[in-house]
Amino acid sequence: MKVGIIGAGASGVFASIILRQNYIDTTVIERNSIAMKKIYATGNGRCNFTNRNVSYKNYHGENKKFSISAIKKFDNYKVIEFFNDIGILEVELENGKIFPKSLQASSVVKQMMCLANHLEVEFIYDSFVNEISKNDGIFEVRCDNGKFYKFDYLIVACGSRAYKKSGSDGNGYLLCQKLGHSIVKTHPGIVQLKLKGDSFKKMSGCKFKANAKLIVDGKKVSEMYHDVLFTDYGISGPTILQFSGEAIRAKNRGQDVKISIDTVDLDENKLYEYLIYIISINYYKKIKELLVGLVNDMLINEILSQAKIDPEKNVSELSKNQINNLSRVIKNLEFEVDGYKDEESGQITCGGVSTDEINPSTMESKIVENLYIIGEIMDIDGDCGGYNLQWAFSSAYSAAISIVKKEK
Ligand SMILES: Cc1cc2nc3c(=O)[nH]c(=O)nc-3n(C[C@H](O)[C@H](O)[C@H](O)COP(=O)(O)OP(=O)(O)OC[C@H]3O[C@@H](n4cnc5c(N)ncnc54)[C@H](O)[C@@H]3O)c2cc1C
Repeated sequence: MKVGIIGAGASGVFASIILRQNYIDTTVIERNSIAMKKIYATGNGRCNFTNRNVSYKNYHGENKKFSISAIKKFDNYKVIEFFNDIGILEVELENGKIFPKSLQASSVVKQMMCLANHLEVEFIYDSFVNEISKNDGIFEVRCDNGKFYKFDYLIVACGSRAYKKSGSDGNGYLLCQKLGHSIVKTHPGIVQLKLKGDSFKKMSGCKFKANAKLIVDGKKVSEMYHDVLFTDYGISGPTILQFSGEAIRAKNRGQDVKISIDTVDLDENKLYEYLIYIISINYYKKIKELLVGLVNDMLINEILSQAKIDPEKNVSELSKNQINNLSRVIKNLEFEVDGYKDEESGQITCGGVSTDEINPSTMESKIVENLYIIGEIMDIDGDCGGYNLQWAFSSAYSAAISIVKKEK
C-alpha cells in the first residue's frame, strides 16, 4: 500500500509525517530541488504558523463552514503541541499570531524535514507532475522528466498560484480539473489594494496607525486598528491585507467597496468641540494650518478636499456646519477600492478546487475514490495571521488520518 503526495509544501510534508508515523509507505514528489520553499517567506521570514484565536469564521470560500471539521480534528493547540514536540517553542505576538521562538521560518523547515527524514518519508525532487490518471484503482503519476510512479492513494498538495517562485503556480488546478474537479474562480488574497482616482498618490509613503473600516454597499463589514500605508498605486498595511479578500470578492460581485479611515483617535463629539476651541484661539490661521499636529501632515489636503473646504481660507470663516463636516471627514476619510495591486503581490489565492466536491471531514474527493486534496489549492482562504498554515496542517491531518483509518 503506497501513498503518493504531489507537492512538498507545508500541507504535503505534514501529511507525509502523519502517514509515516502510522507506518504507511509515503512518497512526496516535488518539482523544486528542496522542500517547503514558500515557508522561508512566511511571516516576513518568521513563519506565523498558527493563531491563538482560530475559528471557522477565519476561513472563506463558497462553503463557509467547510473548515469546521478539519480545524476541530487538528486545531491550533495541536499545531503548537506538534511544534513543541519537534523542538520549536512558540511565541505569541500581536493579534494572537504564533511564531517559533527563534523567529526564524527556517527553523520550521529544518525541524519538519528532520522528522520527515527520520521517519523515512521518500522525497523525489526536481520532478514536475504533469499527468495523473487512475486505472484499475491505481493512480499513475507521470513527471516531465519521464519518471512514472504508481500509488494506491494520491494526495494533491500543489498549493495555489500565490508566490510562483516557490513552485505553486496554479498548475495543480489543471491536474484536479483533469481528474473531474471544478475550480472556483481564483483571485489573489492578502494583497495590497488599488484605489480609484489619484488623490492618494500625493500621500504615497504616509504611514500611520488608525482604525479602518471596510464598507461594502454602505455597510461596515470589517474593522481593524493597525498600520495603514498609502502608496503610489493605492493602499497597503496589515489592515488592508486583512480586508483584501473580502474587498475583492465584493468588487467581483459588482458591489461598491470603500475603505474608511479614522485619522484621529478621538471621539467625534470631542473632536468637534476641540476644533471649535482651537479655532477660537487660532483665529489668525489658514484652515490648512489648523490641522497640523492633529493628523499626519500628508493627509491634510485630502481631508479638506473630502470636506469640500478651501485650504487657503481663514479658520474664522468656517461655519458650524463646515466644522461638523470637517470632524466627520477626519473620522471617516473614504477611498473607493479599484481592485488589487497585481497577481504576484498576493500572499494567498482565494478560490480553487470547489469544496462541494471534497468531503469536509476527510478531504477525500467525492469524484475520485482515494484521491485527496489538501492545503491552499482548494477554495478555502484564511485571514492574515497564521490561519493559512493552520489550514495546511488541519487539512493534511484529516486526509492522512482518513487514509490511516481506511488501512486499519
Ligand atoms: C509571502 C508569503 C507569506 C506568507 N505568510 C504566511 C504566514 O505567516 N502565516 C500563514 O499562515 N500563511 C502564510 N502564507 C500562506 C502559506 O504560506 C500558504 O497558505 C501555505 O504555505 C500553503 O501550503 P500548501 O502546502 O497548500 O502549498 P505550498 O506551500 O505552496 O506548497 C505546494 C508545493 O507543491 C509543489 N508543486 C506544485 N505543483 C507541482 C507539480 N505539478 N509537481 C510537483 N510539485 C508541485 C510546489 O513546488 C510547492 O513546493 C504566506 C504566503 C506567502 C506567499
